[in-house]
Amino acid sequence: MFVLLRHLQRVRREAALPKRSGARSLAIRHVDAGSCNACEHELTATAAPQYDLQRFGLDIVASPRHADVLLVTGPVTSRMASPLRVAYDAMPEPRLVAALGDCALGCGVLGASTEIVGSLDAVLPVDIRIPGCPPTPQAIAAAILAATPPRRL
Ligand code: SF4
Repeated sequence: MFVLLRHLQRVRREAALPKRSGARSLAIRHVDAGSCNACEHELTATAAPQYDLQRFGLDIVASPRHADVLLVTGPVTSRMASPLRVAYDAMPEPRLVAALGDCALGCGVLGASTEIVGSLDAVLPVDIRIPGCPPTPQAIAAAILAATPPRRL
């Protein structure tokens, strides 16, 4: 057990993420709009014990009604454009939209198809851009933490 905890501490140090401030938090709703699932693997790793997004006050939630950030992976397929708008409309203000991966940003390998509407920009206003194919867990965590507003007391 202690060996595992020491290993986790070392991995977290090597990830070089910012220290936990305890003063901010964000709820994240993830939607796969048409990705190849590699972006989801990296997002899952970001929430796993090695990187542990929750220690920064970042939590992945099941409903857009509870979310501050709509985190979207993949290019937007024609079938997912409408559900994305519905999810965005269900979110309380203030709300942010994050495009995770090159496909969501419109420069990925899955963009050229008649079933693809386009990048996330074509459907929703994008506030956070996380490039990469797929982005690393460090890049995902750093981009979301940079957008996390200070908590008002
Ligand atoms: S950016 Fe890369 S990893 Fe992410 S959905 Fe597109 S092809 Fe897959």
